[in-house]
Amino acid sequence: MSAITPNEQPEFDFWEFVACARCHLPFSAESGAQPPVPFWVTECGHVVCNNHLKPDQSCTECGTQGIQVAPLQREVPAYNEAFVD
Ligand SMILES: [Zn+2]
Ligand SMILES: [Zn+2]
Repeated sequence: MSAITPNEQPEFDFWEFVACARCHLPFSAESGAQPPVPFWVTECGHVVCNNHLKPDQSCTECGTQGIQVAPLQREVPAYNEAFVD
């Protein structure tokens, strides 16, 4: 049987590459670090920090009007199923 190596996930943290589209403030300077300010992801797919979130529901990056924004946060880590009886 030829073993296929499963996709190993190196220590790659997607969040380290997330930054505000305007000021490039990193969401997370270090793996696991909390962002210094809240971050938001817009309906049009842009990420902005709280300093650049526009109050008029337009995207600060591309100017799309009437967008929804959602708080950007790391997913809560899943618990390892270490307690399975
Ligand atoms: Zn910003
Ligand atoms: Zn946008």
